[in-house]
Amino acid sequence: THFGFREVPEEEKEGLVGGVFSSVASSYDIMNDSMSLGIHRLWKDSFVSTLLPELPPSYHTNSRGDLSATAATAQVIEPFKCLDVAGGTGDIALRILDRAREKFGSRDIEVEIVDLNQGMLNEGRKRVAKTLYYNTPQITFTHGNAQHLPSHIADNSIDLYTIAFGIRNCTSLPAVLSEAHRVLKPGGKIGVLEFGKVSNPLFREIYRQYSFQFIPIMGKILAGDSESYQYLVESIERFPSQPEFAQLVRDAGFQTGQMREGKGGAWTDFTGGIATMWTGVKV
Ligand code: SAM
Repeated sequence: THFGFREVPEEEKEGLVGGVFSSVASSYDIMNDSMSLGIHRLWKDSFVSTLLPELPPSYHTNSRGDLSATAATAQVIEPFKCLDVAGGTGDIALRILDRAREKFGSRDIEVEIVDLNQGMLNEGRKRVAKTLYYNTPQITFTHGNAQHLPSHIADNSIDLYTIAFGIRNCTSLPAVLSEAHRVLKPGGKIGVLEFGKVSNPLFREIYRQYSFQFIPIMGKILAGDSESYQYLVESIERFPSQPEFAQLVRDAGFQTGQMREGKGGAWTDFTGGIATMWTGVKV
């Protein structure tokens, strides 16, 4: 014991912390569905299908680059590597794998989920256990921080980096973006899905009323907690506007579309700008 306190054995502590967080994490889906009236699912679908319009051919020659007879004949299939940061319960990762399989018939694709919260990771593991990706190298979970990614994730190693509704919670947006840039391969893509700013003034006012009045009340009723939902609304307000965030993506070294919304632009709004996806390419 230290200072008279009973030291909690590591496994027990994990159990306690896990228990607390998984109760949050398991109500997470219900909260998302009720707060967004289920629309977050459509945003995530569009996000993933936009980022994966097709799968690039994933055949590369031996990465050692030597031209010995064996190496020249040994064509290794390198899977398409995705990193889903703040991936929580696997919402994006599972969509990526499903799309690759259903649309392109490919299972040469891997997603590593990185999240700061063990409870969310555990919830994600449980969910994956019910899918056909269970116990395959297609999906892995890593505890880690978006602002300094775990060291086993090498520079220039990732084909697609995604972060959905997670970057808003990070203290340094530039740190997250520069880490993303570092681990992506040249030609690799970043996709950020986050709450945006509603452009239409009337719709903006309606959304504002909804956010500040309805959401904390719903939070109280469904999760017994209005304060976290108050925080949620405030964090959305504080997040940069669409062009401001696009500028941060550029500042991190990514090539983006033009500084406007829509096709050929740096971002795409969903539901009038309630959610927005930004994309960029590492050149
Ligand atoms: N991407 C999932 C989705 O779209 O449903 C989960 C989003 S959830 C609102 C935000 C997640 O970000 C949480 O699981 C939280 O643990 C994680 N998170 C917050 N800060 C983080 C950080 N600095 N690094 C990694 N994950 C973080």
